[in-house]
Amino acid sequence: MSNTLSKTTKSAVMNTYGRFPLTIVKGKGSYVWSDSGEKYLDYTSGIATCNLGHVPAQVQAALQEQLDTLWHVSNLYHIPIQEKLATILTENSIFDAAFFSNSGAEANEAAIKLAKKYAKDQGNVERTEIVTFKQSFHGRTGTTLAATAQEKIHKGFTPIAPGFRYLPYNDIEALQEIHNGRTTAVLLELVQGEGGVNPVQQAWVTELAAICKENDILLMLDEIQTGMGRTGTLFAYEQFGIEPDVITLAKGLGSGFPIGAVLAKDKVAATFTPGTHGSTFGGNPLAATAGYATVKTMLTDKISEHVQMLSEYFFSKLNELKEIYPEIKQVKGKGLLIGLEMEKGAGTYITALREKNVLALSAGEHVLRILPPLTTTTEEINEFLKQFVEVMNEK
Ligand SMILES: *Cc1c(COP(=O)(O)O)cnc(C)c1O
Repeated sequence: MSNTLSKTTKSAVMNTYGRFPLTIVKGKGSYVWSDSGEKYLDYTSGIATCNLGHVPAQVQAALQEQLDTLWHVSNLYHIPIQEKLATILTENSIFDAAFFSNSGAEANEAAIKLAKKYAKDQGNVERTEIVTFKQSFHGRTGTTLAATAQEKIHKGFTPIAPGFRYLPYNDIEALQEIHNGRTTAVLLELVQGEGGVNPVQQAWVTELAAICKENDILLMLDEIQTGMGRTGTLFAYEQFGIEPDVITLAKGLGSGFPIGAVLAKDKVAATFTPGTHGSTFGGNPLAATAGYATVKTMLTDKISEHVQMLSEYFFSKLNELKEIYPEIKQVKGKGLLIGLEMEKGAGTYITALREKNVLALSAGEHVLRILPPLTTTTEEINEFLKQFVEVMNEK
């Protein structure tokens, strides 16, 4: 996607994003409005972040109250709302403790530090490597870009941080290479988001989990995109019969307020002792308030069940379209993390949809990525489908 703005107008913001030619100034529920007053159906959700839709009332009310009370104190003091957020996350998962960061990459940074120190605490000093998988995406910081096994993310940033080994995803044979005496952890997504909406295969991940358990290798899941109800359960691991030691969260956790988290079992969490890790802002009163109100609303409103119901409907309709339009090669994903593998580049469909007031994303060259708010409705899905069919008919 070319950045038309930067070529014609001088911007004081660094040119790191290929921005769409659209300025959004307002949002509510599944819709956003542009600076010229145009209304769009937002099936990007701020990249799987506004999972409760734009400006959800419960989170808005909680944040407004917190804005009047206290914004920030640093993690040198006890923060009750941070405790409440950690409690609701651990009570609704298999984990025992949380660490809070400000973003996804920082959550993965914390998980990577945990894995390295865990091995040393266990006396396994030779275990310094973390295995990640081809086409993964784990972030843009120095270490998380090294964890990301994609050439295009590394380009220009050598020397790449050491300590990662890349194996092919969903490849049963390659699992033999996991335990080589130097591996402390594996880190993976259960549906690769940025890498093309590639779901993990059940047999492969079952085997992977077994190998990890047998050899005391930590199973760490990057649930930054798959978590917070996106795939039809609060966390995606619940659907695979596996027990990760660590998961990372961000995106949907704060409904758009920046927050990330690492959730870990006690045996791993114990590795972090005072002074080993920290963050000035991580889990501050405002962020933790957004997080707690988001999780609470998701549970009270039974968002996961809603996602399962809508997902079944959406997938069945998209599969019907695949039978009609051969340029739809594949319909893939889980819950409301949906990828359409298209014949042509995804950009052409994104532009055509935007011209019909519908926003969608890509995931790699040929995958059109659809990320509706989890609060969307059958009517809104029908609206998307109607516009999408028009785009297909015009081609
Ligand atoms: C978005 C994303 C990240 C990075 O999160 P940031 O908040 O942008 O740092 C990491 N992993 C996955 C799976 C993601 O989708």
